[in-house]
Amino acid sequence: SDRMMLGPLVGSIDQGTSSTRFLVFNAKTSELLSHHQVEIMQKFPKEGWVEQDPKEILSSVHECVEKTCEKLQQLNIDITNIKAIGVSNQRETTVVWDKTTGEPLYNAIVWLDLRTQATVERLLKKIPGKNKSFFKFRTGLPLSTYFSAVKLRWLLDNVEEIKQAVGDGRAMFGTIDSWLIWSLTGGKNGGVHCTDVTNATQFFNNTLSDLALTTYIYKLFCIVFRFFDIPMEILPKVRSSSEIYGLMKSGALTGVPISGCLGDQSAALVGQMCFQDGQAKNTYGTGCFLLCNTGQKSVFSEHGLLTTIAYKLGRDKPVCYALEGSVAIAGAVVRWLRDNLGILKTSQEVEKLAAEVGTSYGCYFVPAFSGLYAPYWEPSARGIICGLTQFTNKNHIAFAALEAVCFQTRELLDAINKDCGVPLNQLQVDGGMTNNKVLMQLQSDILCIPVVKPSMPETTALGAAMAAGAAEGVGIWSLNPGDLTAVTCERFEPQINPEESEFRFARWKKAVMKSMDWVT
Ligand code: ADP
Repeated sequence: SDRMMLGPLVGSIDQGTSSTRFLVFNAKTSELLSHHQVEIMQKFPKEGWVEQDPKEILSSVHECVEKTCEKLQQLNIDITNIKAIGVSNQRETTVVWDKTTGEPLYNAIVWLDLRTQATVERLLKKIPGKNKSFFKFRTGLPLSTYFSAVKLRWLLDNVEEIKQAVGDGRAMFGTIDSWLIWSLTGGKNGGVHCTDVTNATQFFNNTLSDLALTTYIYKLFCIVFRFFDIPMEILPKVRSSSEIYGLMKSGALTGVPISGCLGDQSAALVGQMCFQDGQAKNTYGTGCFLLCNTGQKSVFSEHGLLTTIAYKLGRDKPVCYALEGSVAIAGAVVRWLRDNLGILKTSQEVEKLAAEVGTSYGCYFVPAFSGLYAPYWEPSARGIICGLTQFTNKNHIAFAALEAVCFQTRELLDAINKDCGVPLNQLQVDGGMTNNKVLMQLQSDILCIPVVKPSMPETTALGAAMAAGAAEGVGIWSLNPGDLTAVTCERFEPQINPEESEFRFARWKKAVMKSMDWVT
């Protein structure tokens, strides 16, 4: 019966690239009560292409919600205490569906996918001097294969069903958040077609003040849409990250409002409580994303970082911005060792393999499988492993793979420090890979600063839950700094000397140059 005293709970859908999770938190204590997770299939139909099935993604959400509710009931927790649901999602992954049938018109094109390289080249030709940064002044982002706008352009150009559906007024476009919210709030029977500011990225100007944002939004849409030549009517409505969008229309949580929506990296920033200007976190999932809160001002990067919206936690709340460093391949390199090389049975095993040798023995691995993102933005780079000798074995390669994740993070941190002027004196981390202690120690060694990991690492899900619980009309989660529970953390301190660290980092940079030389 003390379970009945729990107070209000908030559910959180965390739809990542590797897996879907549903987690339930106590709104008063932030305690995680139960969760369920399902891995998502990745399809690689051609070299450089990465797809997922939007129906599988949706059914994985339903499965996670139902299983978590069953687990809560087994713990004697009344699921009617769940008062709100938040959504966080893999960003840029693009879906187009038919609003009359509720069926996707093509597989989801995953953010990592490289098929739009030719589209990017063609769009670049429209720009004076082919300057990739021309676009950056307008959207905070360079023109790259990564973003949903180019993926949508490819779908409109190449998929007959989509062309027809657009012509008939049946098509709807969205990133995964839109696809899920529309489907969960009723789908073809009145689903709500929306997205939040953090997911809308290239579709509008991130670098404007809040007032300008509302005043000029239509004008900007026109600029961007003339450029990408995208029909406005298929786009979701852009909303804040914390407001009631609609109600769940099926399953154990029917009638519960969906009232939070944040792209995964923004959600992690909120979940790590990085609400102050200058606070930063790095999330180690499929890719790696370092976000630094810049408050209500948008900072334009001189060092290959993106200017993104961090969050807008309520209709009347200000937009806060972040500088973002994006690395395409982090956990994905471990998955590659598992699935493509077969040297691991599980991703977790990489830790043991690396620990057995404790060195890469001079081997460097640049996993530029999808080109290189920040700070290089070089789509034609390809992966390389170099420095091999007769002595090199799978343990060294496993170590080099982990070290690659650390070096890539070091490049992001260096860029953020240069852009912000004040160097970070520690790094807050989260994400699936941070369960790997060898990786975390190596990260601290490579950065020469402490690495701090919250004991409850599900910060992405927590951030979306916080946004949902704080929404107007829900009001069960206070985001006032005084009310936020302090998180307990694990710390990793640097253990090697800085010269050793610099030496290895210099070698890494040499390897990166080779990966960019590869296809010319
Ligand atoms: P996403 O949010 O992108 O779906 P997650 O945060 O769930 O990703 O992390 C999953 C990724 O982390 C996978 O690519 C997996 O290979 C990797 N991973 C999971 N556990 C470990 C571990 N113990 N050591 C190294 N990599 C791991």
